[in-house]
Amino acid sequence: MLTVENTLKWLELFDAKIQAEKDYLSELDTPIGDGDHGNNMSRGLLAVHDALTKQQPTDVQGILKTTAMMLISKVGGASGPLYGTAFLEMAKLSSTTLEVGPLLAAGLEGIQKRGHAQVGEKTLIDVWAPVVKAVEDGTLDVAAIEAAVESTKDMQATKGRASYVGERSIGHVDPGAASSGYLFTTMLMAGVL
Ligand code: ADP
Ligand code: MG
Ligand code: MG
Repeated sequence: MLTVENTLKWLELFDAKIQAEKDYLSELDTPIGDGDHGNNMSRGLLAVHDALTKQQPTDVQGILKTTAMMLISKVGGASGPLYGTAFLEMAKLSSTTLEVGPLLAAGLEGIQKRGHAQVGEKTLIDVWAPVVKAVEDGTLDVAAIEAAVESTKDMQATKGRASYVGERSIGHVDPGAASSGYLFTTMLMAGVL
């Protein structure tokens, strides 16, 4: 269940993890993309941090909405609007429920509506979809998240920039899947489940 406290904690931990892994995320994006995923996410989370510090939202919906707006407007790459849409859909649903399962399911649906990717196309979806399922089943743990991230290694990308390199995308972890992995491991660390 999301609360103001654990949602802020989650975003703070996610920001710190993204800043720490910025170079690694851009390295993952180098052989199969344009090498900017770490920089994109770093810029976005820095903006999220600044906006939350300045605005000090007092409800979960406000926190999720501010996060969405910053990611959509500051990230630049394909990942910004996709993550931003996920947070926007979570923000919309948060007036009805603060339960993590339905919120993440709404976020996943938003990413799919926006990016039209299905499971197996080597994107964020390959982490979000199994995580949503595991939350619903009550089985989410760090090992499940890491397995989902790792599963993208053997996939051939058929969406986004990585699809341009065709078969050569096989053998590399998807950068957006890796950053999504951080989103969910920090979610567990923040104790929102
Ligand atoms: P860009 O590709 O514009 O440089 P980023 O490098 O920040 O943007 O983000 C790339 C990541 O975005 C990919 O690793 C992938 O996970 C994700 N992505 C790209 N296109 C899609 C899509 N259509 N649906 C879901 N995720 C996508
Ligand atoms: Mg990129
Ligand atoms: Mg780019």
